[in-house]
Amino acid sequence: MKPSEIDVYKLLKRLHLPTVARLLTELEVRAAKESMSHRDFVAILMAEEIAHRNETRIGKAVRHAHFPFLKSYEEFDFVFQSSLKRHALGPYLGPEFITEGRNLILGGKPGRGKTHLAIALAYRAIQNGFEARFVTASDLIDDLSAASRDGRLREATAEYVAPHVLVIDEVGYLHHADDAANVLYGVIDHRCQKRRPIVFTTNKELNKWGWVLHDNELAEALLDRVLERGVHIKLTGKSYRTRDIDLEMTDGDPETPSGKP
Ligand code: ADP
Ligand code: MG
Repeated sequence: MKPSEIDVYKLLKRLHLPTVARLLTELEVRAAKESMSHRDFVAILMAEEIAHRNETRIGKAVRHAHFPFLKSYEEFDFVFQSSLKRHALGPYLGPEFITEGRNLILGGKPGRGKTHLAIALAYRAIQNGFEARFVTASDLIDDLSAASRDGRLREATAEYVAPHVLVIDEVGYLHHADDAANVLYGVIDHRCQKRRPIVFTTNKELNKWGWVLHDNELAEALLDRVLERGVHIKLTGKSYRTRDIDLEMTDGDPETPSGKP
């Protein structure tokens, strides 16, 4: 068969190269006009195919991550949240966040951007080729407690150990179940052993986690593992949600749970 008789589109379909198929005719015209080299012609088609594949992968990974909303690092206003310096998050932006298994606990009152940043770091990890999963502490504990009652705690734990990055949002916001520390410990201990990063957000001081999770010793053991290769960053600036209103509470214990923000 002569080359001119080959059905290129059929071959591209077999090779799963839809972007090459879509761009081929258009690029042929451009190549003739610009006297493009054969090598550049092939390079452009290959690069476009890979870029498109990557976009598709990122879209799929973002859906699998179950983010409540999608925010990026670039969208975070460090001038407004001046309590946080950009360089503090540097170690969490590249692939070494995953390969070195770094953990992070983002603390602070509501509206300080904790969830935004946790999502942004997980999203960045996805863009760097990894997989992430977002879950609220309440949903995670409920899911694990139910699995424990049904005798399938091991499988449920494995599901949260698998992703490269796990975000556990809102530790201490709602009242957690009595076995919270027990079921959480499995996920956290396994992840720490495998050096898989966890990003927590919390409105509670770390010394209140024992009370929040109903077990001082387990909470301490859990934080010990997390902070062995991680840091606690507290966002102390103003709330971004209510930046134009003065809502700072002055009376009572600021650590008393007041429901969801
Ligand atoms: P928290 O989890 O601390 O309660 P969120 O991360 O949910 O707060 O932030 C509340 C809203 O304000 C979100 O829409 C978030 O994108 C936005 N936000 C908070 N801080 C900032 C910031 N410094 N720059 C840009 N947007 C911010
Ligand atoms: Mg939040």
